[in-house]
Amino acid sequence: MKDASRMKKVELHRHLELSLRAATIKELAPSFGIQLANEADYLDRFVIREPMHNLGAVLNKFLDTQLLLASPEILERITYEACLDAYDEGVRILELRYAPTFVRHRHENMTFQTIHNAMVKGAQRAEAEKPIAVGFNCIIQRILPVKEAEYVTDFAIENKGTFIGLDLADNEEGFDSKPFAPFFARAKAAGLGITVHAGEVNLPEAPGYVKDAIDYLGATRIGHGLQIYRDPQIIEYVRDRGVVLELCPTSNYLTQAVKGGFHNLPYHKLYDEGVRVTFNSDDPGIFATNLNREYEILQRECGFTLDELAQCNETAVKASFIATDKKAKAWSKA
Ligand SMILES: [Zn+2]
Repeated sequence: MKDASRMKKVELHRHLELSLRAATIKELAPSFGIQLANEADYLDRFVIREPMHNLGAVLNKFLDTQLLLASPEILERITYEACLDAYDEGVRILELRYAPTFVRHRHENMTFQTIHNAMVKGAQRAEAEKPIAVGFNCIIQRILPVKEAEYVTDFAIENKGTFIGLDLADNEEGFDSKPFAPFFARAKAAGLGITVHAGEVNLPEAPGYVKDAIDYLGATRIGHGLQIYRDPQIIEYVRDRGVVLELCPTSNYLTQAVKGGFHNLPYHKLYDEGVRVTFNSDDPGIFATNLNREYEILQRECGFTLDELAQCNETAVKASFIATDKKAKAWSKA
């Protein structure tokens, strides 16, 4: 197997809130009342390593991480570190995403703007030090009231100089995307890119969620979307529109998007069908992964060659919402 670690890469789908370094978590946790006596404690509180069956335990890990996102200083630091970590994985074009409502949830002393400014500052610091282009996507949580989505949309549009796109995330089962259509239409009109989490969950109706995201929300990129493998007509629909899938191997394995291990992920089938696919890490902190590990899995378990992965990166360069000049400049460097 050829080593992909030195290959330059694009990351389109990385949640900043769940990309904290282990060392940073261990350093911060005690001041938030979380005592970590040893590595086992850390893994138990903050890392998901096994396919998710016990959803309560998983949710607690998200909440423990959320508790640490408590100040502008911390947010600037974790953003800076996330950018440097991505750079070390070979990433030259990096899209981070976060949900302002998730970060603010237990830290109402901070406004959305305070949160965003701190993150932008962290990213700019990394960009000043390394040849990496960083952009932010703003996430609407579909599980929250639609009114919240309106605030988040306004916030994203007000900051369209530093946000590059709008996303819809969280549990798609039972949370129809249609009520969000007016917000996505406004964001698109304001020049933001549209990516939507859809077709992730292992359900027969999941391919329809992808079609809804394209038809009602104007998505040109889909977070995950792998479930379209179930429906040849939707594969064709996605391919003919040039919609890009942001696939995330470890994440799809841990959420049991398909049963039976990495080798059952339908990625190569989608690639062979001509769907534009890209590979991403989703939540590298909480899933204890990174993009190099994902590329190893893609080579070892999913049958991708290094040349094919390079081609997927070219797809991702084109699909990135980061301004053309900025991304071209970062990509042209070694
Ligand atoms: Zn995601």
